[in-house]
Amino acid sequence: MEDKLLLIPGPTNLSRRVREVMAGPQLPHVGAEFYGTFKETIQLSRYVFKNEKGIQFVFTGSGTIGMEATVLSLTAHGDRTLTLNTGYFGKRMLLLNQVHRNKPDSVDYEDGRHAEPDDLRKRLRKSAYKAVFMTHVETSTGVVNPIRELVNECNKAGVMSVVDSVCGIAGEELDFDRLGADVVFTASQKAIAAPPGAVLLAVSNRAMEYMEKRKDTIESYYMNLPRWKPVMDDPKMYLATPATQVLLALREALREVKEEGLESRWARHRRLGETTRSALGELGVDILADDGFRADTITAFWVEDGKAGAIQKELDEKYNVMVSRGLYEARDKMIRIGHFGILTADKLKHALGQLGSVMDQAGATQRKTVQLAKRK
Ligand code: PMP
Repeated sequence: MEDKLLLIPGPTNLSRRVREVMAGPQLPHVGAEFYGTFKETIQLSRYVFKNEKGIQFVFTGSGTIGMEATVLSLTAHGDRTLTLNTGYFGKRMLLLNQVHRNKPDSVDYEDGRHAEPDDLRKRLRKSAYKAVFMTHVETSTGVVNPIRELVNECNKAGVMSVVDSVCGIAGEELDFDRLGADVVFTASQKAIAAPPGAVLLAVSNRAMEYMEKRKDTIESYYMNLPRWKPVMDDPKMYLATPATQVLLALREALREVKEEGLESRWARHRRLGETTRSALGELGVDILADDGFRADTITAFWVEDGKAGAIQKELDEKYNVMVSRGLYEARDKMIRIGHFGILTADKLKHALGQLGSVMDQAGATQRKTVQLAKRK
């Protein structure tokens, strides 16, 4: 039987090459082979972020480790921070700021809405913040935030900016050097199409300098970017045993990104986004994100309350295709489709046809009848 087609917001299907390197002999974390692998992985990560000027990090752990390492390394107890909260992962960022006893503020947006540069400008005028946290693509809603404008506001106000691009990098356009953000991070299991288990971060020189000059203790051994910096400079340094097979797979996936070319990969993802939006348009469903703020990596739409589980199950059992439901309170009335990684437009189109027939059978298409009130 063919592999299940994963149209969830990560992990994605893996290429044969990536799977094969994972199935090889155990790679030790010492020795020339690993050092070479690690060095190449860091170089390729620079390519995928377009980070030639800043510092590049790669280490193993899930994407949340990247979020938490950033909060811990960039802020200290009592620092005022601002999170532009556009959904579930914005909330997680806010929570991490709370957990680490910062003084976190947030601008909270309704599900499906994007962060407004004007709101940010007003907040930055009113209060002095150490850093602003924002999400590039909000995985819970499929919204792509206007990060260029948002980072610009931060830079005009002289405030550090952090961009969670876990659901963006390699699928949505992002040029770290030109963006001018202080930290951008992603995870391996999304548009890069490697297995879960690695975080990749790009850090500006000014942020790195700030972290290294801090007099207080960063309260983590592992989630501590200045501690990882010597390892990035020389992979022979030991901080903790890396998940070597994950790094091997990541290197292979990044090689494939480079072979495709970053710009071509962005263009392919644009086609995937358009294919999804056009198929859903024909079904007449209500996509959460507003026109112009719809991500090319993931799309979320409303279905009749109570039908999401049946749609997911039927599509899986009948067609071997897996989509996701909404998170928490949206679990029964939202479907989320991840369309990134190595996916082709043809495969996606075919699967969306199957989704359409499952939804028609379930009588689940909303045909634009969902009211805003239902979004709560
Ligand atoms: N941020 C965003 C935008 C995400 O989509 C995710 C994962 N879905 C995370 C952070 C957390 O990553 P992980 O689940 O790998 O810890």
